Amino acid sequence: MDCRKIRRMVSRELDGALDGAGRADLDSHLALCAGCRRFRDLSLAGLSIHRSVKEADPPPSLLPSILAAVEAGPRWGWMHGWLRIAVPAAVAAAAVFGVWVGGLMHESYSPATAGNQTDVLELTYLDEYPPGSLGDILMTSSGGGGDEQR
Ligand SMILES: [Zn+2]
Repeated sequence: MDCRKIRRMVSRELDGALDGAGRADLDSHLALCAGCRRFRDLSLAGLSIHRSVKEADPPPSLLPSILAAVEAGPRWGWMHGWLRIAVPAAVAAAAVFGVWVGGLMHESYSPATAGNQTDVLELTYLDEYPPGSLGDILMTSSGGGGDEQR
């Protein structure tokens, strides 16, 4: 059985909701798994501490001070107001910038304005390949040129 299931069983054990079959599975796993034993020991210690703490009444000033703090609003209210304007403005600026850059890229790389694909891809070096070079082989094998007369 995997350790996550066992640790949920430990939780049920602490709640007093573990049945007999679950108890047998838990005990057999705990006998073999040091990690789950440690988890159970820590859980029992935490429960013991929790049960040892005595319930206390809050001081009379606690509730009025909480209510006053809630009514005063968040301490960083000025920033929320500033962000309410800044965030949409930044999003709009990023969108405009993206459209502008996209337009520049379209003008720079558009086949209609750039001539032929060799210029667009900056492959002009392939126009001047020596015989036997990689460019020669590629151009010949792709049927795109090459020196057929050799
Ligand atoms: Zn385990």
